[in-house]
Amino acid sequence: MGTISKDRNTFWGSLQFKFGLSYILVIAAVLVLLNTYPLRVSQDLVFRSKENTLQNSVSVMVYSLSGLDRLTEENVAAAMAVVEETGISRILVTDDAGKVLYDTRETGSAVGEYAVYTEIVQALLGNDTFTCSYQGGAFRSRSTSPVLYQNRIIGAVYAYEFDPEQGALLEGLQYNLLRLSALISVVVLALSVILSRALTRKIGRLLTAIRRVREGAYSHRAEIPGRDEIAQIGQEFNSLTDRLQITENARRRFVSDASHELKTPLAAIRLLTDSILQTDNIDPETTREFVADIGQEAERLSRITEDLLRLTRLDSGVLEPAAAVDVLPVLEQTMRMMSLVAQEKGVELTYTAAGDCTVLGTRDEIYQIIYNLTDNAVKYSPAGSTVQVSLRGAAEGVELTVADNGTGIPEEDLPRIFERFYRVDKARSRAAGGTGLGLSIVRDTVKRRGGTVEAANGPRGGAVFTVRWPRMKGGDPS
Ligand code: ADP
Repeated sequence: MGTISKDRNTFWGSLQFKFGLSYILVIAAVLVLLNTYPLRVSQDLVFRSKENTLQNSVSVMVYSLSGLDRLTEENVAAAMAVVEETGISRILVTDDAGKVLYDTRETGSAVGEYAVYTEIVQALLGNDTFTCSYQGGAFRSRSTSPVLYQNRIIGAVYAYEFDPEQGALLEGLQYNLLRLSALISVVVLALSVILSRALTRKIGRLLTAIRRVREGAYSHRAEIPGRDEIAQIGQEFNSLTDRLQITENARRRFVSDASHELKTPLAAIRLLTDSILQTDNIDPETTREFVADIGQEAERLSRITEDLLRLTRLDSGVLEPAAAVDVLPVLEQTMRMMSLVAQEKGVELTYTAAGDCTVLGTRDEIYQIIYNLTDNAVKYSPAGSTVQVSLRGAAEGVELTVADNGTGIPEEDLPRIFERFYRVDKARSRAAGGTGLGLSIVRDTVKRRGGTVEAANGPRGGAVFTVRWPRMKGGDPS
C-alpha cells in the first residue's frame, strides 16, 4: 500500500507527467480557440450580410410606399403587390399608430391588431433598426424602417427572416471542428505519452547510472544515444566518473603500497626480536648487532610516516602561508649538510648560483626540495662521480638544476618516477634508505606553488632534475 502510494506520488511529480501535461494543456488551449474563433467569425459574417440584404429589402418596400400620404390596408396591399419579397418570412406594415395594415402571414394574420414590437415602436419614432440572433441552429433577423411622407412618419415596415439553412451550415462546421478536435486530442495524447517517455527514458538512464556510480560501481558508464543536451550531460558524467575512477584507483594503490611499505620494516623488527628472545645464550655482540638493525628499521618506519604525513598535508591543500624566500641561503645550508654525506661516499658536490633567486613559498618547503633532489643524486651515484647543483634567477622565474653522472634513469621509467612509491630498483632504493616518496613530495610541493619539475637524462649519462618556480609578481608575495 505504502509503495503504491509512493509510486503514484513519484509519477505525479515526475518529469514525464509534467512534460505530458504541458503538451496537453497547450493543445487544449489551441483546440478551444479552434472551436470558438472560426464560429464567431462566421456568425459575424452572416450577421453582417443579413443586415445588408434585409435592410435593402426594407428600403425597397419603404420606397414603394413613399408616394402615399396616408397608409390604408388597400393602398399598402396594392403597393406591396409589386415588391418582390425574396427569402423574407414575414412582412408587416403598420400605420403611424402601430396598427397592422399588411401582414404576409396567412394563418394568424395580425391585420387590424396593434403591433407592439419594440422594433416597430422604434421605427415609428423615426429610427431604422436591425437585430439578428443565432438560436437553435437558425438565424433570426429583424429589420424595421419608418415610412415618411413629407417628413412626417406615416407608418413603419417590419421584415423578419428565419434562416435555418445558414444555421445548418454553421452547425455542420461546428460538428466538423469538434470531430477534428477529438481526432487531434487522441493523436496528441498518444504523441505526448510517446515523446515524454522518450525524453524521460534518457533522464532515467542517466539517473540509474548516477545511482550505480554512487553505490561504488565506478566502472559503470551512462550510455545515452543522440547529441542533445541530455546526451551531453551523459558524456560529462562519464568523464567525471573516469576521473573519479582514476582517483579511486590511485587511492587504493596508495593505501596498499603504504601498508606494504610499513609491513616490511615491521616484519624485520619482529624477526629480529624473535631471534633475540628465542636464542639461548646469545652473545652480547650479536644482540648489539640485532638491536642496531632494529633501530635502523625503526628509523626507516619513522621516515616513511614522516613522508606520508607530509604528502597528506600537501593533499589536503592546506598550505602554510607563503612569503618571499631567497633560495640561495637555503641552498648554501643544504650544501653544507650534504657535502659531509657526499664526502663519505666519495662523490664530489659543487654548486653555482646567479641572479635574484627569490621565490614564493616557505623555507622548509625549499629545503625539502633541494634536499630530496641532492640526496637522490648522491645516493644513486657511484664513488668518484660528481653532482652539480645550479641555481639561476631570471626574468621568467627561478630555475634549480641538480645533475649527476651516476646511473641515470631508464627512459621508460622517466614518466613514472614522480609517482608515490615508484622506484626503478626497489632493492637498491631500500638499501640506500629510500622511501619511494621523495620525488612525489618534490613534485607536489612545487606544483602547489605554481612551479614545475622535470626529470631527464644528461647527454653524458646521469640524471638531471630541473625545478622551475614562477617569477614573483611585483615583489608582492600574495
Ligand atoms: P627513493 O626514496 O627511492 O629515492 P624517490 O621518490 O626520491 O624515492 O625516487 C624515486 C626513484 O627514482 C628512485 O627509487 C630511483 O630509482 C629514481 N631516482 C631518483 N633520483 C635519481 C637519480 N638522481 N639517479 C638515478 N635514479 C634516481
